Amino acid sequence: MIFKDRGIEIKTREQILAMRAAGLVVGRTLELLRDAVKPGITTGELDAIAEDNIRSSGATPSFKGYHGFTGSICASVNDEIVHGIPGERVLAEGDLISIDCGAIVNGWHGDAAISVPVGTVGDDLLELARICEESMWRGFAAAKLGGRLTDISAAVEAHVRANSSYGIVEDFVGHGIGSAMHQPPNVPNFGKPGRGPKLVEGLALAVEPMLTLGKQDNHTLDDDWTVVTDDGLAAAHTEHTFTLTPQGPWVLTSLDGGAAKLAELGITCGALAD
Ligand code: MG
Ligand code: MG
Repeated sequence: MIFKDRGIEIKTREQILAMRAAGLVVGRTLELLRDAVKPGITTGELDAIAEDNIRSSGATPSFKGYHGFTGSICASVNDEIVHGIPGERVLAEGDLISIDCGAIVNGWHGDAAISVPVGTVGDDLLELARICEESMWRGFAAAKLGGRLTDISAAVEAHVRANSSYGIVEDFVGHGIGSAMHQPPNVPNFGKPGRGPKLVEGLALAVEPMLTLGKQDNHTLDDDWTVVTDDGLAAAHTEHTFTLTPQGPWVLTSLDGGAAKLAELGITCGALAD
């Protein structure tokens, strides 16, 4: 079913379970990549690990061929915010890499990203990555059936503002997801609560804050993909796909459905039984 007025796709229970299958492929792939990240490895090698794992799981890498993108992951290092193309770049001690990954199972999508330190990384970058991930979880915790979409946006922004002076990237936002990777509605990482579409069962959203150590201003490199900060300072990016059930948020790309992180925030995970 599609709400025609806004083009928002509402998934059935079975479709959400299919999205969970895709989400688990993405989650497991990202954990493999987290373990593989070390000084000396190339982003192309990480991409090969991702593609092998996605395909051997019976899934399809959704990024590969997406508007001509050549990788199965986006690999964005340091001042690269998002959409870095995997290739010959060799990771160095002290880098911060964000890895974004998507997979399709039986036509249903999962999309998630992690920011991973390469070897020993400065406290400034670790803090940036930590606040970025925490702000995403605050977003899930703020999502309630009957609430509004920007309740998520406001919770992400509030956590960033309360804990840092980081930039919040405004040019790129989270999104609806389901039978396509990118669907309405947009999910901004900033704004006032209580606005936008109502949060209902069957809605699935990718929440993905992008934070910068300096200003959020950015531009795209000549490769037409890689988005970098104008000031050359580092960025972090974290993403999960989630849905809402009567029990609470269910983070479809998190291996435990988000149970542990949500519990830290006093929220029950809304995982459905298979
Ligand atoms: Mg993504
Ligand atoms: Mg996304």
